[in-house]
Amino acid sequence: MTDTYQSIDVPFEYRHTCWFCGEPYYESYAFMASPNYDNQTQPILIPSCQECFGICRGIKAGGLDLLRDKVKEGLHKKYQKHLQIGVNWTKEELEESEFEGKALEGFRESAWAMYEIAKGRVNYTGWPLTIDGLPVASMSTAFHVEFDGITYTSINQAVEQLAKAYAIPQAYLEDVVQLVGRDRLAYAIRFAKTTYGYSAAEREASIGSLRALLAEEQALAEAAPKAKQGVDVPLSEIKELILHRTLIPTPAIQWILKRGVTSLQQLAEAEDKFFEHFGQDSELTAFTYFNAIQIYLEQREIDLDWAENHDPNHHLFKHI
Ligand SMILES: [Zn+2]
Repeated sequence: MTDTYQSIDVPFEYRHTCWFCGEPYYESYAFMASPNYDNQTQPILIPSCQECFGICRGIKAGGLDLLRDKVKEGLHKKYQKHLQIGVNWTKEELEESEFEGKALEGFRESAWAMYEIAKGRVNYTGWPLTIDGLPVASMSTAFHVEFDGITYTSINQAVEQLAKAYAIPQAYLEDVVQLVGRDRLAYAIRFAKTTYGYSAAEREASIGSLRALLAEEQALAEAAPKAKQGVDVPLSEIKELILHRTLIPTPAIQWILKRGVTSLQQLAEAEDKFFEHFGQDSELTAFTYFNAIQIYLEQREIDLDWAENHDPNHHLFKHI
């Protein structure tokens, strides 16, 4: 047992606040990493509310960010019903609903407040952890996922909680998310919710049709840029021009013509390649050229008459 502790810095406005969830302070939790990879020598005191303090005591974590995530998961579990209020109701619906009987009326009056409190606590990010002004540890939030205004510690936790909230079998939602990708959680939930039936055979059929749907989507996405072929035009045939006091340089125009880039969207997709190419001269050149080409393509997009009749290079774009 050590008798020395390190206290984290607490900014004045947070001096009575739980670092994990923002509720009123109860006691400081003495954190020791377990497993202790970074050879932590003294416990670090983290201000906690009574609930988070209780949750902390049952947790083993190798770092403060993991401890924080596990506390959040504990809160998610405990307040699952409250958090689901936001899934099942909007504030307006709840206000207009006609619950009868004392208990139900009470529910209506307090439900939204309970949802907002629970949401505020799981989303609370604490203040930056420092001891005597020096950062305590790198606090990763790389795995966090936000859905519908609520933060989850990982995609797995999000799927677990959302499967419950939307009454979707968890294993099925996992399969759907795996297919569509973690960035498309809303799409995954929409799909899983509208699936007809959850028997093994029905789920398998739905997964099959989702696969087909995604393959089709991908084929369309791949077909679109391929339809455009670039043209190789010598510099001497390209006219330099000035737009909004910006010179649009011919090498940059030549580059986009060669790659069939005719819209801002396509330019955004080709941004890395553009910088790779012109960055060889200098970063500044690449930046200046890119900025100029953005202005050029924007002008062509918003003023079609100009693009058709007044752009000195309009005939070159016709070949794309
Ligand atoms: Zn707390």
